[in-house]
Amino acid sequence: MKRCRQSGKKYVMITRGTGVGGGIIANSELLTMESGMAGEIGHMIVDIHGYRCSCVRIGCLEMIASTAGIARPAKGCI
Ligand SMILES: [Zn+2]
Repeated sequence: MKRCRQSGKKYVMITRGTGVGGGIIANSELLTMESGMAGEIGHMIVDIHGYRCSCVRIGCLEMIASTAGIARPAKGCI
């Protein structure tokens, strides 16, 4: 991996709980979309055959990796 000496520090932070979120700092600035949202990695599509998310899309990471997403497969076994 080539290191870019001209850029600032880069960080990625991921949170997991009732949802999945995070933030990305690049060149010492928080990356945001035009809407002002940032780090919405929980709504990244990871399973096109997955469950419908609260954002209305299907297969978001949040539907698998959030607390409810992790518990969902176990509910049928208890
Ligand atoms: Zn979603």
